Amino acid sequence: MSEQEGEPSEDRKKYEFQKVIEDLKEYSGSGTQLVTIYVPPDKRISDVVAHVTQEHSEASNIKSKQTRTNVQDALTSIKDRLKYYGGEPPERGMVLFSGAVDTGGGRTDMVTEVLENPPQSVESFRYHCDSEFLTEPLEHMLEDKGLYGLIVLDRREANVGWLRGKRVEPVKSATSLVPGKQRKGGQSAQRFARLRLEAIDNFYQEVAEMADDLFVPERHNLDGILVGGPSPTKDEFLDGDYLHHELQDKVLGKFDVSYTDESGLYDLVDAGEEALADAALMEDKNEMETFFEELHGGELATYGFDQTRKNLNMGAVDRLLISEDLREDVVVYECPNGHTDRELVDRRADTPDHECSTCGETVEADEADREDAIEHLTRLADQRGTETKFISTDFEKGEQLLNAFGGIAGILRYSTGV
Ligand SMILES: [Zn+2]
Repeated sequence: MSEQEGEPSEDRKKYEFQKVIEDLKEYSGSGTQLVTIYVPPDKRISDVVAHVTQEHSEASNIKSKQTRTNVQDALTSIKDRLKYYGGEPPERGMVLFSGAVDTGGGRTDMVTEVLENPPQSVESFRYHCDSEFLTEPLEHMLEDKGLYGLIVLDRREANVGWLRGKRVEPVKSATSLVPGKQRKGGQSAQRFARLRLEAIDNFYQEVAEMADDLFVPERHNLDGILVGGPSPTKDEFLDGDYLHHELQDKVLGKFDVSYTDESGLYDLVDAGEEALADAALMEDKNEMETFFEELHGGELATYGFDQTRKNLNMGAVDRLLISEDLREDVVVYECPNGHTDRELVDRRADTPDHECSTCGETVEADEADREDAIEHLTRLADQRGTETKFISTDFEKGEQLLNAFGGIAGILRYSTGV
């Protein structure tokens, strides 16, 4: 399936954020002069402008003339950017960065970046002025992956909630009317046991309804469900197929948890850590399994920049596999005799001079064009209806993609012999 035109995938957007953040982290200011502002979706733009105006006037108290000028310039630049927005920030908020960064030799450069709609909503307004930009909250958002359903229960109480990335959100709870094991006088033992089982069954149904209401509408976004509680409650609950069948299929595992109040949801996430890590990597693992199968026994594997690029251009690539940790640029060298070469260089390295692979003519670095390798490849992919998958390096075959295959591979639609 190809992404809709003009709408880059979540993975691709994350990569673009990642790249900007890595650049922003490299910068520092000689004084406390780099401004970062986190704007949550419910903050009015006019309030942000008012805050920036206030900071601008307070900055006049800064003793160092250079720092004062730099801070005020940064704030002016941010105000200029805010003019492009109406009353409301974008849907998930935005983050603004501006400041005079050191470029060496006592010189500075004015840098302004606006990141709209980060992977998660900006939670609260933050104004931060420092010798570095504040990138940590954004970095946390990028690390966070996945949406999971959480259920904890025993025979008395149950809680359901979400795990979004690393954040636990308790949502609903229920308590049962299941009587204790001690029966009252005058009740027959048999009748008491039957009533108790009925009450337990009713309670499991109630918990399942609570989970269904919450999780079924999100079942296509849901990466899995964890169920926790003491034995045998959680086992009875799962074995009894109380949950909606589509949810039942999403259960990643059941875990012993002592508490079934809200704190039990947190315990459940701790207990299920390994299952969660596996689930997060499942899709990446499957892609790499397919790649290696094709590499060893099939004809549909391609890898390395040149080969994968050729196949992409032919429209022969079904899925483009790119290592999340690939940090290279494509340098295009046009020699005076009309030959074109492409070389990959590290993103932080300077462009080297180049000898044309066809005629041996030297192409100087300043005549070369340079573009981020991932942007280059994903653009080609988008033009040919190829799906791009970013592959984590947190498992062995993912690491191999980066180290043994240059971080670039693909699974073909048909064999091309390239
Ligand atoms: Zn040449």
